[in-house]
Amino acid sequence: MKKAVYPGSFDPVTYGHMDIIYRAASMFDEVLVSVLDNKAKSPLFSVDERVKMLKLVTSDIPNVRVDSFSGLLIDYAKKMDVHTSIRGLRAVTDFEYELQIAQTNRLLSGGELDTILLITSLEYAYLSSSSVKEIASFGGDISKCVPPVVEAMIKEKYSNRS
Ligand code: ADP
Repeated sequence: MKKAVYPGSFDPVTYGHMDIIYRAASMFDEVLVSVLDNKAKSPLFSVDERVKMLKLVTSDIPNVRVDSFSGLLIDYAKKMDVHTSIRGLRAVTDFEYELQIAQTNRLLSGGELDTILLITSLEYAYLSSSSVKEIASFGGDISKCVPPVVEAMIKEKYSNRS
């Protein structure tokens, strides 16, 4: 069985992430979308909330599983018996960062974890979780950026904050 992991913050998941998830799901027998519990970042959504929203928006893709992890991706991948990591590339600015992670993971895992970089569809090239949060924090329209269920969760978050 060909398995892949798509790790990320997904704070929140956007149509850009979903495009990568759909495309990865058509290439692999199983795609594990895993929320990284990164203690260095202060996210808008908790890990549990991000897992919940990812489960909701991927419920129609039978070969996608949602999970979370903390620590090194190579340790998690080993535990889950996965040898391919999927990441998305939006622009040249993503490239250097993704290249560094991919090479480090390959080195640290002794060649056990390789990375596939999927290039964003043009319509989502501009989209990032941080811009979605910024627009939403000013009450802007994010309906073209995230699925309706995620939009509702973001609106609720900001209305509780104000
Ligand atoms: P991280 O903090 O790990 O970068 P993100 O949730 O921001 O987590 O992104 C996870 C992955 O998805 C990264 O590889 C990122 O480049 C990719 N990604 C984010 N937004 C898009 C998009 N609009 N199109 C394609 N890939 C994207």
